[in-house]
Amino acid sequence: MNFTYKSYRNLINQLKEHGFSFANYHNYKQYDMPVIMRHDVDNSLDKAVSLAKIEQEEGISSTYFLLLSTDFYNVSSKHSVDKIRTIMECGHEIGLHFDEMKYTLASGTMPDVIDAIKTEAEIMSRIIGAGQIKTVSMHRPSKETLEADYKIDGIINSYGMEFFKEFKYVSDSRRRWREDVENIITSGEYDKLHILTHAFWYNEEELDLRTSVEQFVLSGNHDRYQAMKENITNLDEIMDEVKL
Ligand SMILES: [Zn+2]
Repeated sequence: MNFTYKSYRNLINQLKEHGFSFANYHNYKQYDMPVIMRHDVDNSLDKAVSLAKIEQEEGISSTYFLLLSTDFYNVSSKHSVDKIRTIMECGHEIGLHFDEMKYTLASGTMPDVIDAIKTEAEIMSRIIGAGQIKTVSMHRPSKETLEADYKIDGIINSYGMEFFKEFKYVSDSRRRWREDVENIITSGEYDKLHILTHAFWYNEEELDLRTSVEQFVLSGNHDRYQAMKENITNLDEIMDEVKL
């Protein structure tokens, strides 16, 4: 499968053709053949918005998990909140993407993960201002967290055993499907699917790993210039944007 929007639309259509119902972490028990589509937003809210619109056009909804503390985007800035609201207006759910590493590095020991998740979910709910965050996924989880099967009041853990034991789980982490997702859909072997994709890897045209990362890194120059323009009068009298 290519990492293009066209291929992603094909994936959705294959799921429909093979009888899967697009479900979420809360309602999947209502369906005989549920598929839960999940997106971890590790780098770019803009790419998440693009995929959210495509999914809306295809008539499906999914869950977008956002980091509270990453150096790539700031969920509490006005621009970000507008993008997050756009994702929700497309009919999708926002969940918390939880990075335990932040706490481990700060303290040198494992944090109280459940307490930290509750706190981050509460903060993100307040920032977004659209109800409580009700789902969490883990960013680069440790072995302990992967195996912990955490139960959190009011929040569904997408790393809970049920979403791995009852479901066939497949992901495109590091821009590589570990198993052929299209074979999994068409094989008829599975009646519950849990699919993780990263919007970051998908583009109009197929790009290789290096080019897609490089484009993102270089686009930071433009984003920083725009942010500076909003914070300093007549920036163009001081410097022009450096076109890379
Ligand atoms: Zn992640």
